[in-house]
Amino acid sequence: MKRTADGFVLRGGDITGAKDLQKTLEETGSKVKVVIINEKDVEDVKEELPLSLKPLPRTMQIHQILVISPGSLRHRPVSCFCGKPDFCDCFAPETASFSVQTEDDSEPEGAPHIAAPEQESGKLQKVQDVNESLVSPYCVVKYDGNAFPGIVLAVDDDELEVRVMHRVGRNRFFWPSLEDTLWYAKKDIITLLVDPPKPVTSRHVQVDPTIWIEIEKEEE
Ligand SMILES: [Zn+2]
Repeated sequence: MKRTADGFVLRGGDITGAKDLQKTLEETGSKVKVVIINEKDVEDVKEELPLSLKPLPRTMQIHQILVISPGSLRHRPVSCFCGKPDFCDCFAPETASFSVQTEDDSEPEGAPHIAAPEQESGKLQKVQDVNESLVSPYCVVKYDGNAFPGIVLAVDDDELEVRVMHRVGRNRFFWPSLEDTLWYAKKDIITLLVDPPKPVTSRHVQVDPTIWIEIEKEEE
C-alpha cells in the first residue's frame, strides 16, 4: 500500500488525505480493501464500551494477543506462529490479568446508591392495587409481546401511564429522543422495579440481570 502510494506521488499525483489515499489505491485495482474509519465510527464504539473497562497498557505496541482464560491474556510486540496452535515463547510475551467482570458489578464507582427496599433477586413484583403510591417508580411493561422498562408517570383506575425506554439488544435500553408515553393496563405491567435500570455503557442501561431473566419468561 505504501509503495503504491509512493509511486503515485512520484508520478506527480497528489494524496492530501485518507480519502485520496483510498481512491488512489482503489484505482490501482489493488485487492487490499481500504476502509475509512471516521471519527463518528470511533465515537460510536466508545459509547458502546462498558464504563468500567480497563485498558491494556502500551496497546499501540502490541501485535499479537492470545486469551488464555477469561481475564488473562498473553501479548507481545511481534507476532509469531512457530508453535501453532500453541502460543510460543518467542519475542518475550507478557501476561496481563484483568478482574473478570460480571454484568452485576458494572455499576460505576461512586454512583449514588438509592436506599430502597431490596428487590428480591430474580423476583417479579406485580401491581396489586393501582394507586398514587405507584407514581414515579420504575416498572417493566409488556408492549407487543416485548418488555420495556419505563417510569410510571400517572395512575388511573386500572391503568398506569408509563414513559418507556427503547431497546437496542437483550436487556439494553435507552431513552428515545421522542418521549414514548402510553397508558398500560395493570396486566401489562410485568413488574415494578425497586432499582432503576443501571448504566452499562455511556448510552445504555440494563435491568438487574437476575430480574431480567424472569421478565423474559413473560415475553411472547
Ligand atoms: Zn515463535
